[in-house]
Amino acid sequence: MVAPAAPAPVRADTRSLFDTLAGALPRIAAAAAEHDEHATLPEAELRWLNASGFDAAVLPERLGGGGAGYAFYGSVVRSLAEADPAVATIWTMHLGAAVGLAQLTEERLGTHFADALLRGDRFANALSEPTSGNRFLHPQQEATPVSGGFTISGAKRFVSGSELADHLLVNVAIDGAPAFFGIEPDESITVTPIWDSLGLRGTRSQLLGFHDTFLPDERRAGPPGAGHLNLVGAGLPGISLGIADAALAALVAHARGRTIVGRPLAEQQWVQYAVAEHHVRLEAARAFWERALERADAGAAADGDFGKAKLLANRIAVDVAQLAVRVGGGSGYLRTSPIQRHLRDAEAGQLMAYSTEVLSGVIGAEVLGTTSGESA
Ligand SMILES: Cc1cc2nc3c(=O)[nH]c(=O)nc-3n(C[C@H](O)[C@H](O)[C@H](O)COP(=O)(O)OP(=O)(O)OC[C@H]3O[C@@H](n4cnc5c(N)ncnc54)[C@H](O)[C@@H]3O)c2cc1C
Repeated sequence: MVAPAAPAPVRADTRSLFDTLAGALPRIAAAAAEHDEHATLPEAELRWLNASGFDAAVLPERLGGGGAGYAFYGSVVRSLAEADPAVATIWTMHLGAAVGLAQLTEERLGTHFADALLRGDRFANALSEPTSGNRFLHPQQEATPVSGGFTISGAKRFVSGSELADHLLVNVAIDGAPAFFGIEPDESITVTPIWDSLGLRGTRSQLLGFHDTFLPDERRAGPPGAGHLNLVGAGLPGISLGIADAALAALVAHARGRTIVGRPLAEQQWVQYAVAEHHVRLEAARAFWERALERADAGAAADGDFGKAKLLANRIAVDVAQLAVRVGGGSGYLRTSPIQRHLRDAEAGQLMAYSTEVLSGVIGAEVLGTTSGESA
């Protein structure tokens, strides 16, 4: 297990949070295989993160939080993902929705959603529609105007941690333009348990059905402002990097422990060459992402670099996990080996929006100075 690296400079309270996290990671990692096996939510781990002050630390100071910043947040996401990427994914989505709503409704509702986060409420992003797919910020489902607000009927799918959520960040089209609301699940919202997935099984990313669900005017989010945190965009690369860390650690453990005709597998040259190649790519992806986080902490616009970091991280996670399968041989292919779980989890990073295909289209068009064949 790689000890979580404290980025410098750090505040005193974040340093003690890193120590707290380091103490908890073995316990979180020990439960990961069981959450994967039974597709159970890591609820105890998520509530522990809140109770231990991690949610509060990331919330901006203006909203009553610790204002710990992107570098701290990213380091926690990556460490959690190495231990259990389902915990890291739900935490990323939870904080993305909570802090997003707190920022976007601050003018209208003050610290309503920030206070809810601080008292331990849970949040989820109900954004992806069956019809909009990866273009989750461009909802196709049109809201119906009613007295005091709107209603929505339709579905949002792959909503991580939705069964625990006290609040939902929901998007909808109003006169064709995207609009966002913060609402509490009620009897008009149903959960369809679709999440019998290949990987990230502990996220239980279910389908939510909306049946004339009321979206009150006063819960409508305002436009994003300068300095608003983008915690989902910043965190997604860290999930894949943590999975890559875990896969590489499992590979190394196997290669050192496996002896073939009297020699450790780790001494075979092809293994050393391949490990070197993947290690330096992983280090490069990590460095690029950490630079983006540091720049964002310094106030620079970083969404473009977060997308590039996600593409790099998604690819290296799959490549490291595939190499781990090769090095693991037959024993690494068994259900009893963690390697097969890392490969399944790594694949999910590529699918989460924006997918590697969408990102490649946007980045490629930017480099070529042309229009993207697909708009994200
Ligand atoms: C583990 C996991 C957790 C998730 N958690 C959440 C969550 O909490 N909240 C939430 O709202 N959503 C969540 N999602 C949904 C996710 O963010 C994507 O929106 C969703 O997976 C897209 O799925 P889809 O089947 O509609 O894919 P599609 O969009 O249909 O993609 C199918 C293929 O087409 C490609 N493609 C799609 N659009 C384009 C394009 N414009 N240009 C080029 N290629 C394109 C894709 O790359 C992919 O290869 C989660 C998904 C996963 C896998």
